[in-house]
Amino acid sequence: MSVRTKLAAAFSLFTAALLVFVNIYPILVSRDMVIDAKRGALQSQGSVISSSLSALEVLTAESVERVVDLLDVAPVTRMLVTDQTGLILYDTDQDNSAVGRYGLLSEVAGALDGYAWFSCAYSHGDGAFTSRCATPVSSGGAITGAVYLYDYDRSQGDIIAGLQRNLLNMSALFGGAGLVIIFVLASTLTGRIKRLSAAMGVVRGGDYSSRVRVRGRDELAELSEEFNVLTGRLESTEEARRRFVSDASHELRTPLAAIRLLSDSIAQSDTMDGTTAREFARDIGSEADRLQRITEKLMSLTKLDSGVSVRQREPVDMKAVAERTLQLLQPLAAAQNVTILTDLEEGCVVLASADDMYQIIFNLAENGVKYNVPGGTVSLALGRRGDEAVLTVADTGIGIPEADLGHIFERFYRVDKARSRASGGCGLGLAIVHDAVTANGGAIRVDRREQGGTAFTVSFPLYTQKGGRRP
Ligand code: ADP
Repeated sequence: MSVRTKLAAAFSLFTAALLVFVNIYPILVSRDMVIDAKRGALQSQGSVISSSLSALEVLTAESVERVVDLLDVAPVTRMLVTDQTGLILYDTDQDNSAVGRYGLLSEVAGALDGYAWFSCAYSHGDGAFTSRCATPVSSGGAITGAVYLYDYDRSQGDIIAGLQRNLLNMSALFGGAGLVIIFVLASTLTGRIKRLSAAMGVVRGGDYSSRVRVRGRDELAELSEEFNVLTGRLESTEEARRRFVSDASHELRTPLAAIRLLSDSIAQSDTMDGTTAREFARDIGSEADRLQRITEKLMSLTKLDSGVSVRQREPVDMKAVAERTLQLLQPLAAAQNVTILTDLEEGCVVLASADDMYQIIFNLAENGVKYNVPGGTVSLALGRRGDEAVLTVADTGIGIPEADLGHIFERFYRVDKARSRASGGCGLGLAIVHDAVTANGGAIRVDRREQGGTAFTVSFPLYTQKGGRRP
């Protein structure tokens, strides 16, 4: 069963129950009120007449008529007065007068036994209230007769029937309008849900560009907004993944093609001398090294993506890592005629993965050397600033154009492809640095230096032992 049908059915049931109640309850209450009013009026009238008649020792037709004539009796349909034997002495119905006959009504018999009696009934057939009231008349402690009042009233019944009709009409009107409204509301609601689920189906099919139009400010609008945000994320993740896979395969294809070419040349040449063959073999070896470097870097990125390194964080002395890294870089710096200058402060201990920290410092310093000019310098400065350890790697190299600054942390992004390739780069070094820094709770920024060259600044919160003391 659809949500719309369920909503419409639930509302209809509720409305039907409400309308039944609205139609029945006021009518019942009104009838009870009319009956109560009748009881009050007839009983007080009966007792006024009976007390007036109790002045007579013996009731006779003449004496009763005399007394009743003197009374200002409110009009009822019929009034009978009997003596103590039940003989009717007085009757307001002149046409069918029962005077001289015995009133054999049970109410009269009851009244002659000393009991006041009242009954009132509503007849659905003719819509009238029929009320009967019998009151004993006593004089000197003895029952001398009975007063019997009979009232047949259609006017009150008509008012109630009119009320009932109005209620019914209004119920039909409101019920119908309610049904239309709930149907429209339910249709709108289910329409929006359907559109959302259709959009989900499209996304499930692999098209992440699907979005739903957000209308209103209700929960469904919130859900649609969440869906759009989620799909947007999926789209950019998918886009990044696609780009990554295509870039990675492109990067791997180039050295593989070179290896293939070189090995084919060796295999197909009958006349190749030993020196050329060895040179080709060395080239194959360096392409293999390149492949190894790329795959190692890809492994590092995958590790960072999975968050493995974050789980192995420990207090790391940045100065010690920097010194060890620079030792490894000295031969490269010397080969490029680049001088590495250091100003490393003690006590820069941060909570990080030692491997990640090594990668960060190594990649930044290596780039400083690689993208430098002969006779240039790379300066490493480490110090504490507030509750942070800040490392700056600044070089006097070729610099990064303003337009590229925003992209250099992207995977496989290279400013100068030829230079990067020549120095063995594949555009993953800074992506690894960026991911490693953020995975270890740090921040990184890059600036163009006024005097030429580039400065990378990395900061991490200083490690403090429990109680706030630094180790
Ligand atoms: P690569 O492996 O190519 O060095 P990176 O991710 O380390 O890749 O760097 C991305 C690009 O940013 C490089 O190709 C290079 O063009 C540029 N770059 C990185 N560091 C520097 C630097 N210190 N000076 C100038 N350019 C740099």
